[in-house]
Amino acid sequence: MRRAYINKETGEHLKLVPICPKCRASVYWSLISGVEGARAPAHCANNASATRIITDLENMLICDWEGVVVRMRDGEVNIYDKKKRLVPHKVVRKRFRSP
Ligand SMILES: [Zn+2]
Repeated sequence: MRRAYINKETGEHLKLVPICPKCRASVYWSLISGVEGARAPAHCANNASATRIITDLENMLICDWEGVVVRMRDGEVNIYDKKKRLVPHKVVRKRFRSP
């Protein structure tokens, strides 16, 4: 799956970023292998095991979503939930200013 798109008319860069299907936070994973079909666990940025600085313990959002990241043939990764559905993505827009 392609992750980055460029609108040639406006110069706008669009990037698809995977998000947690439960709470829409970022999804974290670590997959070193570039071999097609290689897998590793993925988890939500709000997972209790995720590294973060705790500033407000009472209002801290904890999300237990876990999934799996799989290396595709083109070197990209796909992230699936436990029912083997692709996680949703959000679109991040970035416009590069011309010099
Ligand atoms: Zn989550």
